[in-house]
Amino acid sequence: MSKSILITHATVFTMDTNNRVLRDTGVYTEGDRIISIGPSELLARQGFRPEITIDGSGKVILPGLIDTHVHLIEAIMRGLVPDDVNLHLWLKEWLWPLQQACDASIGITSAELCIAEMLRTGTTCFLEAQLHSNWGIEGMARAVLDSGIRGNLSKMVIDTPSYDPTGGASHPFAEDKGHSINTFRNLHRELNGKGEGRLGIWLGVNNPRACSDDLGRELNQVAIDHNTGLTMHVAETKVDLDNMSARGTTPGKWLEKTGLAGQMRVFAHGVWLTEQDISILEKSGASVAHCPSSNMKLGSGVAPVTKMIQSRLNVSLGCDGGPSNDCYDLIREMKTAALLHKVSNLDPRAITATEVLRMASINGAKAIGLEKEIGSIEVGKKADLVIIDLHDVRLYPPQGSDSNILYAASGTDVSHVIIDGRFVIEDRKFSTIDEEELLLKTERETDRLLRVAGKT
Ligand SMILES: [Zn+2]
Repeated sequence: MSKSILITHATVFTMDTNNRVLRDTGVYTEGDRIISIGPSELLARQGFRPEITIDGSGKVILPGLIDTHVHLIEAIMRGLVPDDVNLHLWLKEWLWPLQQACDASIGITSAELCIAEMLRTGTTCFLEAQLHSNWGIEGMARAVLDSGIRGNLSKMVIDTPSYDPTGGASHPFAEDKGHSINTFRNLHRELNGKGEGRLGIWLGVNNPRACSDDLGRELNQVAIDHNTGLTMHVAETKVDLDNMSARGTTPGKWLEKTGLAGQMRVFAHGVWLTEQDISILEKSGASVAHCPSSNMKLGSGVAPVTKMIQSRLNVSLGCDGGPSNDCYDLIREMKTAALLHKVSNLDPRAITATEVLRMASINGAKAIGLEKEIGSIEVGKKADLVIIDLHDVRLYPPQGSDSNILYAASGTDVSHVIIDGRFVIEDRKFSTIDEEELLLKTERETDRLLRVAGKT
């Protein structure tokens, strides 16, 4: 049950159309909604009878952060994969063998670990990229519902095992497309919209390299029929671009041709998109989930994010996976994004803190089609709020500015997280998760994963 909450005297980053930052401001929530926002003294006179009151002095309130490219299965693989390997070898030699060794028990544990980290660091909503049936998708859905987070889980669909046109790896998760789509339909029927709408079921296409033209067209129709979204890795490395060239096209043109470009279509990475691709995606209403840490660690390249923003293509943010980042902390990811584009453009004006904050909030909401419900702090929207406590030597003097949050803070500075008007983190402690039990279970399942994968 949610309780009515009044937070007073805080600095509120609304992330509304005008990016208003309100000082000495109160936010009142009732049920799952934001009821009132205004000067603390004014709110005190409005006669609200909150069940919980928080003194927000020295604190910042952000909208719940939204991670639009997450691999739940990879949290348990953090540190198990060599750091200094390019993406294709990294997949073939390490990531895929580990993923093939995952069963439902390991998969669900990894999802619980990932969700706990996201909650702990201020992420209230996420889009999972691709889940195989062997990994316990129903149990992962239960983890979403029980933890209180808002999440979209995508059923993996792959019909083209040949992965690398240069003769490299063959994707191990190709399955009959009819089977994949039926599994998606069943999951969607059983689970979509559960948890008062917190849980969504999407389609997760691995990559254009793993998807025939026919499958692309069919999945577009399946997504439309189910009124749901679709996500895909696109143009992550130069090999992706070369593969499209070999098929006589570019990533953007292929997405347009198959009908996959459009609203509620989230394309992760987009490092090697051409200028024409950016224009195609912008016109279609699609979004790019920028994953700077992953792209930097795997040496994939620098996504042309400043060009995307100039072209008004919606850019959101993603932490990607356990071994490629190695954290699911969007506040740290925001700093990485800002620094990357300043240095790669040799221009400190290339991207602003506000633009990056929008990527992790309202742009993320737009990417997944929830911009009317979440992503900003406005009356009538869902009560998904993150409180950052500035009372710390690392954040002093406590300016409460966007610079303060982006460049000095990290997810561990989050003191409270509220989703649908309920606390999931309160005074830095989990309200819905037994942290010690989760850590013990993770140790056990990691040992088993390494044994089964033959990596001990
Ligand atoms: Zn990914």
